Amino acid sequence: MRRSWEEFFGVRWVAVAPFAGAVVLVLLIAFSFAGGDGNADNGETSAQPPATPEAPAGEPSPAPTAPGDPSTSPAATLTTTARVEEPGFTAHFIDVGQADATLLEGPDFAILIDAGHWQRDDVIPYLESVPVEEIDLLVGTHPHADHIGQFPQVLGAVEVEEVWMPGYEHDSQTYENTMEAIDASGATYTEPRTGDTREIGDATLTVLNPPGDDGDIHETSISVRIDRGDVSFMFTGDAEEQTERWMVESGLDLDVDIYQVGHHGSYTSSTQAFLDAMTPAVAIYSAGEDNQYDHPHDVVIDRLHESGIQIYGTDLHGTVTVTTGGESYTVETETGEGPLRPGGR
Ligand SMILES: [Zn+2]
Repeated sequence: MRRSWEEFFGVRWVAVAPFAGAVVLVLLIAFSFAGGDGNADNGETSAQPPATPEAPAGEPSPAPTAPGDPSTSPAATLTTTARVEEPGFTAHFIDVGQADATLLEGPDFAILIDAGHWQRDDVIPYLESVPVEEIDLLVGTHPHADHIGQFPQVLGAVEVEEVWMPGYEHDSQTYENTMEAIDASGATYTEPRTGDTREIGDATLTVLNPPGDDGDIHETSISVRIDRGDVSFMFTGDAEEQTERWMVESGLDLDVDIYQVGHHGSYTSSTQAFLDAMTPAVAIYSAGEDNQYDHPHDVVIDRLHESGIQIYGTDLHGTVTVTTGGESYTVETETGEGPLRPGGR
């Protein structure tokens, strides 16, 4: 059953971005985006301008209406609007329990980063609900069963053009099944390395990690930044402190707007130096309710709050989506709730 966009999410949180370190939340469709932005250092991006002009001549921009009820969260205002910009590009941080699966869906392309837990069965139904019938790129950040768990299902059900894996050979049935499914699918198989780039639709992917074959299963996680116009995302799989430090010290461009919190919010990741290099406005972690690892760890949540970053989590918010036309973005939650309040876990 396909629920409509509005029914599914109920409400919508609108954020204007990207201002370094600050997200301004606005009511309804406020088109008053600043022309410049604080994030223009991403020299390699070659994003095309939106196909539609920002404000068609003769059609006045919708004016923001009165401020919201002051009793609501001071950080945000509830809205029920349609898309902010067209054409849309949506990152779906899918609620897959204690696992990762993020779909990046453009008008004519789809990228899936990780595919849930091997003991669950929730990625294909989500893809069908969007719907996504073809995947241009399927990324396995690392071969743990909470990341490549449903690769065999996805590869069996959906046409996949290319698969990225880090090259770490894991001794597990899930890994074996995955490699067999990749073979059988006929998808192109790639082990990307630091500095590799790929244009898919109007998104630019830049591989940050791993630089080579050395490292353990977590530290060789494929880490990638994805730029869509001025709006950028960071994915690091379960990479930990050592990799974060290496990325910072390497002088890679890590400045992004939206950070998928590394290793489900584990204390092993999201170091202060890494956060300082990224300066994200929004952080989204994927974790299961009452999971056995206690993810996300309080120390990470506190650090994100103290850095002024808005936090969303799939355990509390359900599936979280970020939609962008390349200039601003909108964060929506399945539960309709806004970001975590400081001390609010
Ligand atoms: Zn994991």
